[in-house]
Amino acid sequence: MPDPVQPPADGAPLPEGADVDSETERLRTATQTVAAGLKARAAVATGDAAAVLKATALMAGDRTLLKSATKLVASGTSAESAIWEAADAVATQLTALGGYMAERATDVLDVRARIVAELRGVPAPGIPDSEEPFVLCAVDLAPADTATLDPAKVLALVTSDGGPQSHTAIIARSLGLPAIVAATGTTALADGDLVFVDGITGTVTRDPGPAEEEIAASYANRAALPDFDGAGALADGRSVPLLANVGSGTDAVAAAEAGAEGVGLLRTEFCFLGRDKEPTHEEQVEAYRAVFDAFPGRKVVVRTLDAGADKPLPFLTDDTEPNPALGVRGYRTDGATPGVLARQLAAIAEAAENSRADVWTMAPMISTPAEAERFAGLCAAAGLRTPGVMVEVPSAAVLAGQILQRVDFASIGTNDLTQYTMAADRQLGALAELNDPWQPAVLHLIKATADGGRAAGGATSEGSATTGAKPVGVCGEAAADPALAVVLVGLGVATLSMNRRALPAVAAILRTVDLAEAQRLAGLALAAPSAAEAKELVRAELLELERFGL
Ligand code: PEP
Ligand code: MG
Repeated sequence: MPDPVQPPADGAPLPEGADVDSETERLRTATQTVAAGLKARAAVATGDAAAVLKATALMAGDRTLLKSATKLVASGTSAESAIWEAADAVATQLTALGGYMAERATDVLDVRARIVAELRGVPAPGIPDSEEPFVLCAVDLAPADTATLDPAKVLALVTSDGGPQSHTAIIARSLGLPAIVAATGTTALADGDLVFVDGITGTVTRDPGPAEEEIAASYANRAALPDFDGAGALADGRSVPLLANVGSGTDAVAAAEAGAEGVGLLRTEFCFLGRDKEPTHEEQVEAYRAVFDAFPGRKVVVRTLDAGADKPLPFLTDDTEPNPALGVRGYRTDGATPGVLARQLAAIAEAAENSRADVWTMAPMISTPAEAERFAGLCAAAGLRTPGVMVEVPSAAVLAGQILQRVDFASIGTNDLTQYTMAADRQLGALAELNDPWQPAVLHLIKATADGGRAAGGATSEGSATTGAKPVGVCGEAAADPALAVVLVGLGVATLSMNRRALPAVAAILRTVDLAEAQRLAGLALAAPSAAEAKELVRAELLELERFGL
């Protein structure tokens, strides 16, 4: 995947040897080429990708944009600088208009990058267009890139950045794509190389031969996992509900078909990625209802918008923050942009009202008991019955008992909890070893959270009567690792929520242990001095992993 296009210098003059006429012609040809290319791709694309391409093609042919840019060229500016500046002005105007027009600002900026790439004679940014299926090798993918990622074309993903819990990895899992993140040596690969990508060992081999063919055959021969029967349980029959992480109604339908016992995490920001304007009440109700309708009579946990850091939403986040992962993200955006959260809760409540799903609502990035209490208040005001929090910040894990006295449940986001416990950016390939939920420090915090749920049992949040432990689930990627899932249950976690594709593997391994054994394995992992040793000790005891090639 080509690198992002770097901006030209502000007001750069006409290139040497060029005059206004030749530079105008160069600009015109570049815009026409880009528009024609996008149009041709839109004609053969389907679904979201076709819509994105069509909108971008229209923008590339936009006369106003070209007119303002040629004016700048006429005053002596280079074609690159002129289109850059002209597009900036158009995008600003569109944003100010709001609504549908504001959403088109992203298309203008995308077109601008494509035109500049064309002028420079370098490949267009974004996912490459290819007739032939290919292995996509990139630094990392932006969430918006995934809108045009066609799983029929992309055979596997290899990225030099991104950790195993980064959004690229999460998306690759949801598409069922073999993927290697935080790969070293990717710069040695060139376009057109034939490669063998082994997502299990995390290796890429150039010019594969008989050895690789043998590996592929051995994977094809491993025992097939039984389909998930829709009832997660341990060997002693103790129930461990297995839920799904979803980002849309379509995902939810697929998860229900895969046997998920409900939704443990609806990432609402995924319904509105790439939007620079707050979605309307009606749009939100429709998006949430589509998920609720897939799970009548079942639990659906809705997470309020988790904007910021790896999931920027321009209407909520400030892209100039020096340290976005430690910035105004998740629940914290309610302080900087009040109103969006209350309006989202109202939309969730309306969608829940006429649905048969059992709707629970939680906030991401809660750090203190006071925040939990305030969120519960907002939920109550919106008429939402079951408020909860995500435990993603170490402070929330440490004070889980107090937090869970104020809300009805907690769901541990191990992706962020690991990033913040280890102080290691989850998007950085170089820190992938630290960014591992098997880190014993992370496991101790998971145990502290589950203990907090037990301690808070019996306490009630306003208007709801709960007895026994307050439920603590896990919805980070850790829950999708079958060996780690056993440890999580041993640490006291009640439910596990994962990508639907992980359900059969997790269900099969959970059924091989009883609670006492899960607790024993959790004890081994807690006492281990490193993530690698924790993982090795536990895996050595779960013999079924090998049979299924897990
Ligand atoms: C997490 O942090 O573990 C989580 C589930 O949320 P996200 O991956 O969307 O940040
Ligand atoms: Mg998170």
